[in-house]
Amino acid sequence: IAEDEAVNRELLGFILSQRYEVLFAENGLEALNILREHVGRISMLLLDINMPVMNGMELLRLMKEDAALSRVPVIVLTAEKDSELETLQMGALDFITKPYDMPEIILARVQRLIEFIEDREIIRDVEQDDLTGLYTRNFFHEYCRRMLEDGHPRDMLAVDIDHFHLVNEVNGKAFGDVVLRAVADGIREVLEGGVGIGCRNSGDLFYVFIDHMEDYDALCDTITRRVHRIEGAGNLRVRMGVYRGVDTAKVIEWYSDAAKDACSSIRSNYVQNVKIYDEAMHEKELFNESLIADIDKAIAQKQFRVFFQPKYDIRGDKPKLYSAEALVRWQHPELGFISPGAFIPLFEENGLIMKLDEYVWRETASYIRHWRDTRGIDFPVSVNLSRMDFFSTNLKERLLGIMEEFGISVKNFVLEVTESAYSDDMNRILNIVRELREAGFQIEMDDFGSGYSSLNMLCLMPIDALKIDMKFAQNIANTRSGYRMVELVIDMARCLSVPSIVEGVETEEQCRLMKRVGCDVVQGYYFSRPVDAQTFEKFFE
Ligand code: C2E
Ligand code: CA
Ligand code: CA
Repeated sequence: IAEDEAVNRELLGFILSQRYEVLFAENGLEALNILREHVGRISMLLLDINMPVMNGMELLRLMKEDAALSRVPVIVLTAEKDSELETLQMGALDFITKPYDMPEIILARVQRLIEFIEDREIIRDVEQDDLTGLYTRNFFHEYCRRMLEDGHPRDMLAVDIDHFHLVNEVNGKAFGDVVLRAVADGIREVLEGGVGIGCRNSGDLFYVFIDHMEDYDALCDTITRRVHRIEGAGNLRVRMGVYRGVDTAKVIEWYSDAAKDACSSIRSNYVQNVKIYDEAMHEKELFNESLIADIDKAIAQKQFRVFFQPKYDIRGDKPKLYSAEALVRWQHPELGFISPGAFIPLFEENGLIMKLDEYVWRETASYIRHWRDTRGIDFPVSVNLSRMDFFSTNLKERLLGIMEEFGISVKNFVLEVTESAYSDDMNRILNIVRELREAGFQIEMDDFGSGYSSLNMLCLMPIDALKIDMKFAQNIANTRSGYRMVELVIDMARCLSVPSIVEGVETEEQCRLMKRVGCDVVQGYYFSRPVDAQTFEKFFE
């Protein structure tokens, strides 16, 4: 209570001390000293306007300039009506008029305001991201929704750092945090120049909802500059995706998803840092959505078909059929034939691939069984495992279940695991792969040489064959170094004592050179494209 008249001070103090601890000041300067000493512990200041030494208006002005003190709520004590507006403009919340003849009402009012202010503080805690001080996802979306209501055109920006997980892995989490804070600072700088709000959605994904503008490159540069100021962050790349909010009928999640899609579309595209969501992306999005919506029906109606591509052993005089790879195709009733490149990555993103893979495995198992029944041969076929399959807690049990159901041996059901899956979470994947091998499955490492696998990692790898990425076959006949590269990877396979399988062999010359460098098995158009099961049977003959 800052009040110069002793009687008033005592009376108010008496009323409030029923609930609160009360500190007294006789003028503005005393009040200021008390505030400074106890800042953070003061719930409310009751401030008289007319006081000697420093009056109430002067104190309000000083408080307003001080970041900490400006957060202390103030109720003005006043006898005259006319200063109300001015004190309100200075940040006072409410008034109590003298004389104080209704103690219960005064106490109730103070109490209500204090509770209100404290609630607001609690909200501020969850509304803000601890690390960056930007809004958290839920509050951001809520405020965006309210902003949308005025129909004003605004754009949504998604901002993230290329390969941020590597930043964390290589430089440590503390460094990663510094980078994230710099992004947030950059976003605040951007927001100074335009009207909008920002949030950290999760990890390194940020959103900004801002009044529509034309040039976004400058914004991206502003944020990038902040990041590059950090020592050791000079080559980090900030990406920005923009959704131009022309259509206010869209829900806010649509805005942020579109901005994020635009942002992801330039991942690892080193010439473009800003991407505006456009019609083509929209079309693609709709197409993808329709594929996702169709998958259950497609599985039920057997629109997915499993094709087989032979692998030939070229070690002897004459190539010998070695095994086959099962590759899925989609014969869509309206869209026609869709190649796996169009839907596999899509289904990998949302986990639907697990359903599809299970279907492919069962189809494959049924053919292996069929060929044994009709031709009396145990023919090994490899199937592809997606990185997502490794998130299934009972992967081994599911696979063994299929073996049992179709009565086939694990020896004939080979698993291809792409090289890049290993780098996701190496130890976890390694353990699962070990278990699968202990259960009798053979593992072929797919797409070898396309990712980042280190030699060190390769030595730890429990594998039964190395499938060498297609690009090696394509270069073998072109350059001397292309040839040498193939020799090297085949040497690696030899060191690991596993057969080498080269993919993508298309010409006779490529095949001949493969034989010369000591490659064991070849798969590719030279022998055959992937074909349906019935067509494939000719290879048995
Ligand atoms: P992948 O596992 O590396 O399969 C080899 C791909 O190379 C196949 O493409 C095959 O048709 C193609 N190919 C084979 N020989 C040649 C050749 O001589 N030249 C050229 N240019 N290409 C050749 P496809 O069938 O389009 O499949 C693409 C990718 O989709 C596969 O790459 C695999 O990663 C994925 N995939 C296919 N079927 C399945 C499946 O059932 N489950 C999962 N998870 N992924 C699958
Ligand atoms: Ca494969
Ligand atoms: Ca491959």
